[in-house]
Amino acid sequence: MGDVVQVEKAGEIIPVIVGVNLALRPEAAVPYRFPAACPACGTAVVGAGEAAAVRCPHADCPAQVRRRLEHFASKAGVDIHGLGPAWVEALVAHGLVRTPADFYRLQRADLLALGKDTGPVSDRLLAAIERSREAELWRFIHGLGIPRIGETGARRLAGRFASLEALAGAAPDEWAEADLGPTAVAALAGYFGTPANRALVVELQAAGIRPRVDAAPGAGPLAGKVFVLTGSLPAWTRAQAAEKIRAAGGVVREAVSGRTDYVVAGKGAGEKLAEARRLGVPVLDEAGLRALLGESPAP
Ligand SMILES: [Zn+2]
Repeated sequence: MGDVVQVEKAGEIIPVIVGVNLALRPEAAVPYRFPAACPACGTAVVGAGEAAAVRCPHADCPAQVRRRLEHFASKAGVDIHGLGPAWVEALVAHGLVRTPADFYRLQRADLLALGKDTGPVSDRLLAAIERSREAELWRFIHGLGIPRIGETGARRLAGRFASLEALAGAAPDEWAEADLGPTAVAALAGYFGTPANRALVVELQAAGIRPRVDAAPGAGPLAGKVFVLTGSLPAWTRAQAAEKIRAAGGVVREAVSGRTDYVVAGKGAGEKLAEARRLGVPVLDEAGLRALLGESPAP
């Protein structure tokens, strides 16, 4: 404890320590000892010794239950406006919610009984929960919090499967068809191999969710065309450009290959642009993409 370290972003937002500045180490520094038991539930932790992380193996650990619910409701998940950590904590503490499916069974009287407001806040929350029933399928998939499945993986799975049940019941080679690597496929097998997780999918369906499925590939002016985006575009973010391409029936991939139809390159494009040139893949700028989409030029 007390070291000065250098960190960088890894994955989405989790910082990774890439080095210790030993010159700045205080003389009183002592080695950090991971806790042997989960601070939230007291279960003995696993993973000590191998990775720089330990985890609590107790599936009903209250801290994990809350975190899973927060993630499901968050912007990265089904995006239930107003349902933050404070609501989650109150709902869990009163035994009203244990899994995401429970959100969809909440009644006005349940929320009023928590004494958090006289009605308007609860009504807004119930309306937000109601709207989230029709969130896009990828949001439900991402919201489950399956290890190794980020937003990109969730979108790919949503493009390949029509429902959560179809996803949960699929064979590993079908998951791999969604353009996922072996670690992601193994993570899916681990997740859907757990009875409680299969039960959650059934419960969500029974609670009346109606996930919206992305436009089927094969429809739209860019049907089946494979795009890779790189660099920063003048007017659109890459996420916006990807959204437009998908809406037009196109597919957005991470890596350039012989099956790529177009690379859309902006400022700062590097390796992917070089690869496109090497393979002879047509390269577009944002104006070219807009033209392809039949959109008017950027203002
Ligand atoms: Zn725990």
